[in-house]
Amino acid sequence: MTIAAREIHLKSRPAGLPGPDNFELVERSLPAPANGQLLVRTLWMSVDPYMRGRMVDRPSYIAPFQVGQPLEGAAVGVVEKSAAPDFKPGDVVTHFSGWRDWAVIDAATATRIDPAAAAPQAWLGPLGVPGQTAHAGLLHIAGPKEGETVFVSAAAGAVGSMAVQIAKIKGARVIGSVGTEEKARWVRDELGADAVVNYRTAGDLTKALAKAAPEGIDVYFDNVGGDHLDAALAVANKFARFAICGMIAQYNDEVPPPGPRNMAALIVKRIRMQGYIILDHPDLTPEFTREMLGWLGEGRIKSRDTVVEGLENAPKAFIGLFSGDNTGKMLVKLADG
Ligand code: NDP
Repeated sequence: MTIAAREIHLKSRPAGLPGPDNFELVERSLPAPANGQLLVRTLWMSVDPYMRGRMVDRPSYIAPFQVGQPLEGAAVGVVEKSAAPDFKPGDVVTHFSGWRDWAVIDAATATRIDPAAAAPQAWLGPLGVPGQTAHAGLLHIAGPKEGETVFVSAAAGAVGSMAVQIAKIKGARVIGSVGTEEKARWVRDELGADAVVNYRTAGDLTKALAKAAPEGIDVYFDNVGGDHLDAALAVANKFARFAICGMIAQYNDEVPPPGPRNMAALIVKRIRMQGYIILDHPDLTPEFTREMLGWLGEGRIKSRDTVVEGLENAPKAFIGLFSGDNTGKMLVKLADG
């Protein structure tokens, strides 16, 4: 038995913002799963900003994508054929062979999910890496105390929208930054942020943040870097904690931009700034999953998806992350469940 599968390959390494020409849709036939393998039909796949870093041929915390090879990333699919004892046809699993409609994967790389607990795609959003990244960065890296002020950049994105809501649950005053008025309304009116800055229309971001946080900020959850980090350093209080999660503002830069001009604030204000990678924290997964399922069930955490249909449109969905096409989690839907 062979399966006709379609997958997206990296055709060439992007220079600057990726374009459609950097990707190629390739058809190939898949063999039947060997012992210990599964044949999976993908329902949903995730596109994520970190994938831009993997398109560059350089050492990092995860190996670069190879030109002429399929891209990969988080996905949810249905097991159609199992040659592994722990899985049976019909099981819904998360796996890491996204960017393709069918995949033969090692069963060890699949995790069965309970479709009754949440919609399958939620395991790529609030219950997946974005939710876990927000939870770990906020609670285990930054640690806001009740009544403190938390600033979250890219606050309407997959990670940011979770960080805003978790910070509210923990009793913080929360300020988000976003790129559109529609996102500002969502973050303020539905997610519960106390103030929102639209960085595209705010003018001087430091002044805008200082106005939104007259009491200063105690925690900065950084998804953006650049001028946002500059502003956060300027407005931070003494002993502020910065969880450096991502710096999307510079992912397409060929040469790293100059750093914040005001790093001396770290000393004067005794700021602790810590970068982290969620892959380092698998130990936190059970606590996170339990807590997040509870919050979702109680309606204390809301989520939104921006859905692009069809594998062939996955590059467009990915590229759209860099111009803010998504509110909440950017997902590609490949098939009905
Ligand atoms: P998002 O859903 O937040 O999508 C990206 C968003 O970033 C866009 O919607 C856009 O929103 C905003 N954005 C894009 N370009 C810029 C820019 N130049 N300046 C300001 N904002 C910009 O993505 P994720 O939630 O998946 O990821 C958020 C961050 O978290 C990324 O930096 C990512 O790399 C990082 N990350 C880190 C992990 C870790 O382990 N450390 C794990 C997962 C993610 P807007 O319209 O508001 O501009």
